Amino acid sequence: MGELNPQIKDQLSKYVRVFDFGEHLCLLNGLSLDKVFIKADADNQETKDVLQKYNLLKDFDVKAEKFVSGCQSKFDPSFRQLYLVVTEACNFDCKYCRQVTHDVKGNRSMTRDEARLIVDNFFNLAEDKPRGVVFYGGEPLVNKEVMLDAVKYIRQKESKLKLDRPIDMTIITNGTLVDHDSAQVLKDNDVYIIMSIDGRAQEHDKFRVYANGKGTFDDVIKGYKIYQQAGCRVGISCTIGSHNYDNLEDIFDYFANDLQPINVGINLPHDDHDNPLNDDLDFGKFCQRMFKIFEQSTDNNLYIEHIIRKLKLLFRHEIKINDCAACGGRLVALPGQRYGVCEGAIGMDEFFFTDIKRVAEMSAEWYGTSPLFDDHCSNCAAVGVCGGGCPFDGYLEAKQVGHRDSRRCLFMNKIVEWGLENFYKIHKNKLQGKKYYIPNLSDQHDFLKEIKAINDSLPLRSSASFSNTKL
Ligand code: SF4
Ligand code: SF4
Repeated sequence: MGELNPQIKDQLSKYVRVFDFGEHLCLLNGLSLDKVFIKADADNQETKDVLQKYNLLKDFDVKAEKFVSGCQSKFDPSFRQLYLVVTEACNFDCKYCRQVTHDVKGNRSMTRDEARLIVDNFFNLAEDKPRGVVFYGGEPLVNKEVMLDAVKYIRQKESKLKLDRPIDMTIITNGTLVDHDSAQVLKDNDVYIIMSIDGRAQEHDKFRVYANGKGTFDDVIKGYKIYQQAGCRVGISCTIGSHNYDNLEDIFDYFANDLQPINVGINLPHDDHDNPLNDDLDFGKFCQRMFKIFEQSTDNNLYIEHIIRKLKLLFRHEIKINDCAACGGRLVALPGQRYGVCEGAIGMDEFFFTDIKRVAEMSAEWYGTSPLFDDHCSNCAAVGVCGGGCPFDGYLEAKQVGHRDSRRCLFMNKIVEWGLENFYKIHKNKLQGKKYYIPNLSDQHDFLKEIKAINDSLPLRSSASFSNTKL
């Protein structure tokens, strides 16, 4: 166990956290993401100079204040990503679905003209720089014709603009209403498929059921295969909860061996108390399991989005202002031309407006929930990569958007710790006979390659880089 020299300790920036890796310590500035590995007993002037140069001493705090206030005034009111809710109806009746608990009324759907009009509005609001469109529901394929028409319409409109990259289109679907023809349209128009699958039948069918209570797993897998046969890029979104977290290792083995998705996104359960996902959920155990799976994932080619996107920030020195594009950039459009920022709030009328100005105001207000602007977060190792998670959770938990969920904080901190510790294991030899080691960007990039974190061609990439900034 190493203990940092008290003289140095007293001079550290408030953003610095010290990680003890036995023979050596790692000093991380959680905001700037600078990191220095040093011998525990280092105390000479040279070491102080190095720590100062790499933003680890108190004088950094003045720079940080300026940076943070610059970020506060950086809010960009344009919308670059559209969530097009072509229907609120769904052919499933999942037991944890918020849209069911929020009592979505009327199962409204868009007409073809309404969907086109919304796309036109979105292109205008995006000032002809649209980045992404996500088809969302309900189940978007309940309104198949309108959805497929919107896909083609967006590509047509895009072809008239000189965009630096194509619009990133994604459908989030339960997969059961697809047929070969619709899969082909999605493939031809380069739409990523994200399918919600919570495990094998024994886990998935506990909560993801039809209205008559019958499990949906067999139909989901049929749909999955149709998409794969059509040559679509298919990823999985797996909601974690009481129904599957005991078996996570087996589930991820199944994904890797049998389904071979291009990525796996995990949805941590939101913090609403009446949600069955939260029953008996031990988050500490969940974290342990998740890292075990993550360590295996580099061998079995699973790309685990939730962890990797944080490690990328940590080792690329990119700072996340907000984690969710609901805090700036995202427009959620519901049938009836009602607009909001958060798809999680579908069914709650107070979060949707016919006046776009109200949506922009909400976006700006949610932007303000960033951990960068929260004094309670400045001493957290994850402050630069966290982005604050889901601001809507705070509303569900404490009727206050942006209220922090301690379980997510634990997970964020574990990701940072895992990253630094594993980076250290690989580069420990660089400290041989030296007082300190400052990782350069190329070492950090190589580490990301080593853990197979370099893959920028994935679904929802349009929101992955929203709100990233550098010091
Ligand atoms: S705020 Fe939360 S529920 Fe809403 S879109 Fe973002 S992550 Fe989803
Ligand atoms: S929200 Fe939690 S994890 Fe994120 S910076 Fe704040 S304390 Fe850290």
